[in-house]
Amino acid sequence: MSAIRYELIKTCKQSGARLGILHTPHGSIETPIFMPVGTQATVKAMTPEELKEIGSQIILSNTYHLYMRPGHELVKEAGGLHKFMNWDKPILTDSGGFQVFSLGPLRKITEEGVTFKSHLDGSKHFISPEKAMEIQNALGSDIMMAFDECAPYPADREYVKNSLERTTRWLQRCKDAHKNTENQALFGIIQGGMYKDLREQSAKEVTAIDLPGYAIGGLSVGEPKPLMYEVLEYTTPLMPVDKPRYLMGVGSPDDLIEGVIRGVDMFDCVLPTRIARNGTAMTSQGKVVVRNAAYAKDFTPLDPECDCYCCKNYTKAYIRHLVKANEILAARLITTHNLRFLLKLMEQVRQAIREDRLLDFREEFFTKYGYEL
Ligand SMILES: [Zn+2]
Repeated sequence: MSAIRYELIKTCKQSGARLGILHTPHGSIETPIFMPVGTQATVKAMTPEELKEIGSQIILSNTYHLYMRPGHELVKEAGGLHKFMNWDKPILTDSGGFQVFSLGPLRKITEEGVTFKSHLDGSKHFISPEKAMEIQNALGSDIMMAFDECAPYPADREYVKNSLERTTRWLQRCKDAHKNTENQALFGIIQGGMYKDLREQSAKEVTAIDLPGYAIGGLSVGEPKPLMYEVLEYTTPLMPVDKPRYLMGVGSPDDLIEGVIRGVDMFDCVLPTRIARNGTAMTSQGKVVVRNAAYAKDFTPLDPECDCYCCKNYTKAYIRHLVKANEILAARLITTHNLRFLLKLMEQVRQAIREDRLLDFREEFFTKYGYEL
Protein backbone atom coordinates (compact mmCIF):
# COMPACT_ATOMS: atom_id res chain seq x y z
CA MET A 1 0.00 0.00 0.00
CA SER A 2 1.39 3.36 -1.01
CA ALA A 3 1.52 6.25 1.46
CA ILE A 4 -0.26 8.60 -0.93
CA ARG A 5 -2.93 8.23 -3.60
CA TYR A 6 -3.74 10.58 -6.47
CA GLU A 7 -7.33 10.92 -7.59
CA LEU A 8 -7.91 12.58 -10.96
CA ILE A 9 -11.22 14.46 -10.69
CA LYS A 10 -11.40 15.86 -14.21
CA THR A 11 -9.46 17.43 -17.04
CA CYS A 12 -10.34 20.90 -18.39
CA LYS A 13 -12.07 20.51 -21.76
CA GLN A 14 -10.55 23.77 -22.97
CA SER A 15 -6.91 23.28 -21.89
CA GLY A 16 -6.40 19.64 -20.88
CA ALA A 17 -5.25 20.76 -17.38
CA ARG A 18 -5.84 18.31 -14.52
CA LEU A 19 -7.92 18.77 -11.37
CA GLY A 20 -7.20 16.25 -8.66
CA ILE A 21 -6.95 15.31 -5.01
CA LEU A 22 -3.78 13.98 -3.43
CA HIS A 23 -4.48 11.86 -0.35
CA THR A 24 -1.56 11.81 2.13
CA PRO A 25 -1.03 10.57 5.71
CA HIS A 26 -1.54 14.17 6.91
CA GLY A 27 -4.69 14.93 4.97
CA SER A 28 -5.85 15.47 1.40
CA ILE A 29 -4.79 18.37 -0.80
CA GLU A 30 -6.38 19.78 -3.91
CA THR A 31 -4.27 19.96 -7.06
CA PRO A 32 -2.99 21.90 -8.96
CA ILE A 33 -1.27 23.25 -5.87
CA PHE A 34 1.46 25.72 -4.94
CA MET A 35 3.65 24.67 -2.00
CA PRO A 36 5.26 27.44 0.11
CA VAL A 37 8.90 26.70 0.88
CA GLY A 38 10.05 26.33 4.48
CA THR A 39 13.74 25.78 3.90
CA GLN A 40 14.85 25.49 7.54
CA ALA A 41 11.65 23.93 8.94
CA THR A 42 9.97 27.34 8.83
CA VAL A 43 8.36 29.35 6.06
CA LYS A 44 10.28 32.53 6.74
CA ALA A 45 8.28 35.11 8.76
CA MET A 46 5.13 32.93 8.99
CA THR A 47 3.69 30.82 11.82
CA PRO A 48 1.96 27.55 10.87
CA GLU A 49 -1.38 29.06 11.97
CA GLU A 50 -0.87 31.99 9.60
CA LEU A 51 0.03 29.61 6.78
CA LYS A 52 -3.24 27.74 7.32
CA GLU A 53 -5.21 31.00 7.44
CA ILE A 54 -4.08 31.93 3.93
CA GLY A 55 -4.92 28.47 2.58
CA SER A 56 -1.60 26.59 2.54
CA GLN A 57 -2.36 22.89 2.23
CA ILE A 58 1.19 21.50 2.02
CA ILE A 59 4.63 22.98 2.54
CA LEU A 60 8.10 22.02 1.42
CA SER A 61 11.18 21.68 3.58
CA ASN A 62 14.81 21.20 2.78
CA THR A 63 16.80 18.04 3.48
CA TYR A 64 20.25 19.58 3.00
CA HIS A 65 19.62 22.45 5.40
CA LEU A 66 18.01 20.28 8.09
CA TYR A 67 20.75 17.66 7.81
CA MET A 68 23.34 20.40 8.36
CA ARG A 69 21.40 22.12 11.14
CA PRO A 70 19.97 20.97 13.54
CA GLY A 71 20.63 17.45 12.16
CA HIS A 72 18.05 14.84 11.10
CA GLU A 73 18.62 12.74 14.21
CA LEU A 74 17.62 15.63 16.44
CA VAL A 75 14.46 16.19 14.38
CA LYS A 76 13.68 12.48 14.70
CA GLU A 77 14.19 12.66 18.47
CA ALA A 78 11.77 15.61 18.56
CA GLY A 79 9.12 13.32 17.06
CA GLY A 80 9.66 14.09 13.37
CA LEU A 81 9.46 17.27 11.33
CA HIS A 82 5.68 17.77 11.67
CA LYS A 83 5.89 17.78 15.46
CA PHE A 84 9.20 19.67 15.59
CA MET A 85 7.81 22.63 13.60
CA ASN A 86 4.16 22.31 14.74
CA TRP A 87 2.73 21.71 11.24
CA ASP A 88 0.15 18.91 11.06
CA LYS A 89 -0.57 19.07 7.33
CA PRO A 90 1.47 17.38 4.58
CA ILE A 91 5.18 18.11 4.11
CA LEU A 92 7.32 17.43 1.07
CA THR A 93 11.09 17.30 1.51
CA ASP A 94 13.54 17.69 -1.34
CA SER A 95 16.53 15.34 -1.45
CA GLY A 96 19.34 17.81 -0.87
CA GLY A 97 20.72 17.05 -4.32
CA PHE A 98 20.01 20.52 -5.67
CA GLN A 99 21.82 22.27 -2.80
CA VAL A 100 24.75 19.83 -2.81
CA PHE A 101 25.28 20.18 -6.55
CA SER A 102 24.97 23.97 -6.24
CA LEU A 103 28.04 24.00 -3.99
CA GLY A 104 30.23 23.96 -7.12
CA PRO A 105 33.93 23.63 -6.28
CA LEU A 106 33.05 22.53 -2.73
CA ARG A 107 31.76 19.15 -3.95
CA LYS A 108 33.00 15.99 -5.70
CA ILE A 109 30.66 13.57 -7.52
CA THR A 110 31.27 9.83 -7.80
CA GLU A 111 28.98 6.92 -8.63
CA GLU A 112 28.68 6.27 -4.91
CA GLY A 113 27.46 9.80 -4.03
CA VAL A 114 28.64 13.34 -3.46
CA THR A 115 31.34 14.51 -1.04
CA PHE A 116 31.07 18.15 -0.08
CA LYS A 117 32.08 20.79 2.41
CA SER A 118 29.47 22.42 4.64
CA HIS A 119 28.44 25.96 3.69
CA LEU A 120 28.26 26.65 7.44
CA ASP A 121 31.61 25.54 8.87
CA GLY A 122 33.58 23.87 6.06
CA SER A 123 33.23 20.38 7.63
CA LYS A 124 33.32 17.43 5.20
CA HIS A 125 30.17 15.40 4.44
CA PHE A 126 29.00 12.65 2.11
CA ILE A 127 25.47 12.24 0.76
CA SER A 128 24.51 9.17 -1.25
CA PRO A 129 21.06 8.00 -2.37
CA GLU A 130 20.98 5.80 0.75
CA LYS A 131 21.92 8.72 3.01
CA ALA A 132 19.28 10.99 1.41
CA MET A 133 16.66 8.33 2.22
CA GLU A 134 17.94 7.87 5.77
CA ILE A 135 17.68 11.62 6.38
CA GLN A 136 14.20 11.95 4.89
CA ASN A 137 12.97 8.83 6.72
CA ALA A 138 14.15 10.48 9.95
CA LEU A 139 12.40 13.75 9.07
CA GLY A 140 9.17 11.84 8.40
CA SER A 141 7.90 13.93 5.47
CA ASP A 142 4.82 12.70 3.60
CA ILE A 143 6.58 13.01 0.24
CA MET A 144 10.31 12.44 -0.17
CA MET A 145 12.31 13.26 -3.25
CA ALA A 146 14.91 10.98 -4.85
CA PHE A 147 18.57 12.03 -4.76
CA ASP A 148 19.27 13.32 -8.25
CA GLU A 149 21.53 15.63 -10.17
CA CYS A 150 19.95 18.76 -11.60
CA ALA A 151 22.21 19.55 -14.57
CA PRO A 152 23.08 23.22 -15.02
CA TYR A 153 22.00 25.33 -18.00
CA PRO A 154 23.52 25.39 -20.46
CA ALA A 155 25.16 21.95 -20.30
CA ASP A 156 26.48 19.84 -23.14
CA ARG A 157 24.64 16.74 -24.26
CA GLU A 158 27.24 14.24 -23.07
CA TYR A 159 27.21 15.72 -19.57
CA VAL A 160 23.41 15.72 -19.37
CA LYS A 161 23.18 12.14 -20.65
CA ASN A 162 25.71 10.79 -18.13
CA SER A 163 24.03 12.75 -15.36
CA LEU A 164 20.49 11.53 -16.12
CA GLU A 165 21.66 7.91 -16.38
CA ARG A 166 23.33 8.18 -12.99
CA THR A 167 20.15 9.80 -11.64
CA THR A 168 18.20 6.70 -12.78
CA ARG A 169 20.68 4.35 -11.09
CA TRP A 170 20.48 6.49 -7.95
CA LEU A 171 16.66 6.35 -8.09
CA GLN A 172 16.70 2.55 -7.90
CA ARG A 173 19.09 2.78 -4.93
CA CYS A 174 16.74 5.32 -3.28
CA LYS A 175 13.79 2.99 -3.74
CA ASP A 176 15.75 0.05 -2.28
CA ALA A 177 16.90 2.12 0.72
CA HIS A 178 13.51 3.70 1.54
CA LYS A 179 12.47 2.23 4.91
CA ASN A 180 8.99 3.64 5.52
CA THR A 181 6.90 3.13 2.37
CA GLU A 182 3.63 2.90 4.32
CA ASN A 183 3.83 6.46 5.65
CA GLN A 184 6.16 8.20 3.22
CA ALA A 185 5.92 8.36 -0.57
CA LEU A 186 9.05 8.53 -2.73
CA PHE A 187 8.91 10.56 -5.97
CA GLY A 188 11.33 9.96 -8.86
CA ILE A 189 12.72 12.95 -10.80
CA ILE A 190 12.92 13.20 -14.58
CA GLN A 191 16.02 15.03 -15.82
CA GLY A 192 17.48 15.42 -19.33
CA GLY A 193 18.16 19.14 -19.59
CA MET A 194 16.78 20.87 -22.66
CA TYR A 195 17.30 17.83 -24.95
CA LYS A 196 14.09 16.22 -26.14
CA ASP A 197 15.50 12.72 -26.67
CA LEU A 198 17.22 12.81 -23.26
CA ARG A 199 14.00 13.91 -21.53
CA GLU A 200 12.30 10.97 -23.29
CA GLN A 201 15.02 8.59 -22.15
CA SER A 202 14.84 9.86 -18.57
CA ALA A 203 11.02 9.78 -18.46
CA LYS A 204 11.05 6.20 -19.75
CA GLU A 205 13.68 5.01 -17.27
CA VAL A 206 12.29 6.88 -14.25
CA THR A 207 8.62 5.93 -14.76
CA ALA A 208 9.65 2.29 -15.30
CA ILE A 209 10.46 2.29 -11.58
CA ASP A 210 7.07 2.00 -9.87
CA LEU A 211 6.60 4.97 -7.52
CA PRO A 212 3.60 6.96 -6.15
CA GLY A 213 4.57 10.15 -8.02
CA TYR A 214 7.07 11.74 -10.38
CA ALA A 215 8.69 15.15 -10.71
CA ILE A 216 10.25 17.16 -13.49
CA GLY A 217 13.60 18.58 -12.40
CA GLY A 218 16.24 20.66 -14.15
CA LEU A 219 13.91 23.45 -15.30
CA SER A 220 13.83 27.11 -14.25
CA VAL A 221 17.63 26.98 -14.09
CA GLY A 222 18.23 30.04 -16.28
CA GLU A 223 16.75 28.91 -19.59
CA PRO A 224 14.32 31.18 -21.49
CA LYS A 225 10.68 30.64 -20.49
CA PRO A 226 9.52 29.49 -23.96
CA LEU A 227 12.14 26.73 -23.80
CA MET A 228 10.88 25.59 -20.40
CA TYR A 229 7.30 25.46 -21.73
CA GLU A 230 8.47 23.47 -24.74
CA VAL A 231 10.26 20.91 -22.52
CA LEU A 232 7.13 20.62 -20.35
CA GLU A 233 4.96 20.15 -23.40
CA TYR A 234 6.77 17.03 -24.52
CA THR A 235 7.64 15.69 -21.05
CA THR A 236 4.29 15.61 -19.20
CA PRO A 237 2.61 13.33 -21.78
CA LEU A 238 5.32 10.75 -20.98
CA MET A 239 4.27 10.67 -17.31
CA PRO A 240 1.56 8.36 -15.88
CA VAL A 241 -1.95 9.84 -15.85
CA ASP A 242 -2.82 8.29 -12.48
CA LYS A 243 0.13 9.73 -10.52
CA PRO A 244 0.87 13.32 -9.39
CA ARG A 245 3.30 15.42 -11.46
CA TYR A 246 5.51 17.91 -9.67
CA LEU A 247 7.46 20.68 -11.40
CA MET A 248 10.34 21.57 -9.09
CA GLY A 249 11.43 25.12 -8.26
CA VAL A 250 8.86 26.97 -10.36
CA GLY A 251 6.56 29.60 -8.85
CA SER A 252 6.11 32.82 -10.80
CA PRO A 253 2.41 33.46 -11.55
CA ASP A 254 2.82 33.09 -15.31
CA ASP A 255 4.82 29.86 -14.96
CA LEU A 256 2.20 28.36 -12.62
CA ILE A 257 -0.58 28.96 -15.15
CA GLU A 258 1.51 27.79 -18.13
CA GLY A 259 2.66 24.72 -16.15
CA VAL A 260 -0.89 23.70 -15.19
CA ILE A 261 -1.99 24.05 -18.82
CA ARG A 262 0.81 21.63 -19.72
CA GLY A 263 -0.39 19.02 -17.21
CA VAL A 264 1.52 19.81 -13.99
CA ASP A 265 -0.14 19.27 -10.56
CA MET A 266 2.38 20.56 -7.99
CA PHE A 267 4.80 23.49 -7.76
CA ASP A 268 7.16 25.03 -5.21
CA CYS A 269 9.39 28.09 -5.25
CA VAL A 270 11.13 30.48 -2.85
CA LEU A 271 10.27 33.41 -5.14
CA PRO A 272 7.17 34.80 -3.32
CA THR A 273 8.80 34.70 0.12
CA ARG A 274 12.24 35.87 -1.06
CA ILE A 275 11.01 38.91 -2.99
CA ALA A 276 8.69 39.75 -0.09
CA ARG A 277 11.72 40.24 2.13
CA ASN A 278 13.13 42.63 -0.49
CA GLY A 279 9.90 44.63 -0.43
CA THR A 280 8.34 43.37 -3.66
CA ALA A 281 4.73 42.23 -3.93
CA MET A 282 2.98 40.14 -6.58
CA THR A 283 -0.47 41.61 -7.20
CA SER A 284 -3.39 41.16 -9.58
CA GLN A 285 -2.22 44.36 -11.30
CA GLY A 286 1.37 43.20 -11.61
CA LYS A 287 4.53 43.66 -9.59
CA VAL A 288 4.60 46.35 -6.86
CA VAL A 289 8.02 47.47 -5.60
CA VAL A 290 6.76 49.02 -2.37
CA ARG A 291 10.00 50.90 -1.72
CA ASN A 292 9.41 53.14 -4.75
CA ALA A 293 8.74 56.82 -4.03
CA ALA A 294 5.52 56.58 -6.03
CA TYR A 295 3.90 54.79 -3.06
CA ALA A 296 4.93 57.29 -0.37
CA LYS A 297 1.38 58.69 -0.13
CA ASP A 298 -0.52 55.74 -1.58
CA PHE A 299 -3.13 54.92 1.03
CA THR A 300 -4.59 51.96 -0.86
CA PRO A 301 -3.86 48.26 -0.16
CA LEU A 302 -1.05 46.34 -1.93
CA ASP A 303 -3.69 44.57 -3.99
CA PRO A 304 -7.31 45.83 -4.01
CA GLU A 305 -8.50 42.36 -5.10
CA CYS A 306 -6.75 40.49 -2.28
CA ASP A 307 -8.48 39.12 0.82
CA CYS A 308 -5.37 38.68 3.00
CA TYR A 309 -4.74 40.18 6.44
CA CYS A 310 -2.18 42.60 4.96
CA CYS A 311 -4.47 43.95 2.25
CA LYS A 312 -7.48 44.16 4.56
CA ASN A 313 -5.64 46.30 7.15
CA TYR A 314 -2.63 48.15 5.74
CA THR A 315 -1.75 50.64 3.00
CA LYS A 316 1.16 50.78 0.58
CA ALA A 317 2.32 53.99 2.27
CA TYR A 318 2.54 52.25 5.67
CA ILE A 319 4.24 49.13 4.31
CA ARG A 320 6.70 51.34 2.39
CA HIS A 321 7.51 53.10 5.65
CA LEU A 322 8.15 49.72 7.34
CA VAL A 323 10.38 48.59 4.46
CA LYS A 324 12.42 51.79 4.56
CA ALA A 325 12.73 51.59 8.37
CA ASN A 326 13.86 47.93 8.12
CA GLU A 327 11.00 46.81 10.35
CA ILE A 328 10.37 43.05 10.64
CA LEU A 329 6.65 43.60 10.13
CA ALA A 330 7.29 44.59 6.50
CA ALA A 331 8.59 41.11 5.69
CA ARG A 332 5.71 39.50 7.60
CA LEU A 333 3.01 41.50 5.84
CA ILE A 334 4.39 41.19 2.30
CA THR A 335 5.14 37.47 2.77
CA THR A 336 1.56 36.92 3.93
CA HIS A 337 0.29 38.77 0.89
CA ASN A 338 2.57 37.13 -1.70
CA LEU A 339 1.80 33.61 -0.50
CA ARG A 340 -1.93 34.36 -0.35
CA PHE A 341 -1.71 35.78 -3.88
CA LEU A 342 -0.24 32.54 -5.28
CA LEU A 343 -2.50 30.26 -3.21
CA LYS A 344 -5.55 32.23 -4.36
CA LEU A 345 -4.28 32.15 -7.94
CA MET A 346 -4.23 28.35 -7.72
CA GLU A 347 -7.76 28.37 -6.24
CA GLN A 348 -8.86 30.40 -9.28
CA VAL A 349 -6.99 28.02 -11.59
CA ARG A 350 -8.77 25.01 -10.04
CA GLN A 351 -12.12 26.77 -10.40
CA ALA A 352 -11.36 27.56 -14.06
CA ILE A 353 -10.55 23.87 -14.68
CA ARG A 354 -13.85 22.91 -13.04
CA GLU A 355 -15.61 25.27 -15.43
CA ASP A 356 -13.57 24.17 -18.50
CA ARG A 357 -12.29 27.73 -19.05
CA LEU A 358 -8.63 27.77 -18.08
CA LEU A 359 -7.48 29.30 -21.39
CA ASP A 360 -10.00 32.14 -20.93
CA PHE A 361 -8.75 32.59 -17.37
CA ARG A 362 -5.15 32.81 -18.61
CA GLU A 363 -6.17 35.54 -21.04
CA GLU A 364 -8.01 37.53 -18.34
CA PHE A 365 -5.13 37.12 -15.89
CA PHE A 366 -2.41 38.30 -18.27
CA THR A 367 -4.46 41.23 -19.53
CA LYS A 368 -4.41 42.65 -16.02
CA TYR A 369 -1.11 41.26 -14.83
CA GLY A 370 0.75 42.16 -17.98
CA TYR A 371 4.35 41.20 -17.23
CA GLU A 372 6.59 38.35 -16.22
CA LEU A 373 8.06 38.09 -12.75
ZN1 LIG B 1 -2.99 40.60 0.12
